[in-house]
Amino acid sequence: MILGFDNLDKDMTARCLMTYIMAVLEAVKPSAKADVFMSGGGSPKHLILASRLNEITAIETDYPFRLANQGIALNLELVLKEIAPIMTIQDPLVFADKLEEIYPDDRVDIKSIDAPLMSSCDCYCCKNYSQAYLSHLMEVKELNALILIAIHNAT
Ligand SMILES: [Zn+2]
Repeated sequence: MILGFDNLDKDMTARCLMTYIMAVLEAVKPSAKADVFMSGGGSPKHLILASRLNEITAIETDYPFRLANQGIALNLELVLKEIAPIMTIQDPLVFADKLEEIYPDDRVDIKSIDAPLMSSCDCYCCKNYSQAYLSHLMEVKELNALILIAIHNAT
């Protein structure tokens, strides 16, 4: 059985989203072996919450590409650093509440510096181009800027 849930409200709070996901999973559990696909939403908050529930098979989202189209790069280093202290919380609803309280900024402020978007990122963009170069591409409205940022965001 394949179950997908779509049209997640992008402004849905962490607790509401987790409650919704848990209700869906509870509904399909009797049939066991259900593949659960999550689509829609897809912000780092949504992905973190979904990753806490092992029953979700796949997550589909256009979030990294929507951000890239606006010239915005994701910064998952900050997200992971900020949520590290709460990762040991077992209760998913308590975890969702805590995530709501500390939700970090997940975007890189692209500067004119000779450094990659994220120093720890292994993507093609971060390995080969600096923020200064990306900033220049953005200023001259070069399409490659959006493509490189999309590569980073999706990696
Ligand atoms: Zn990268």
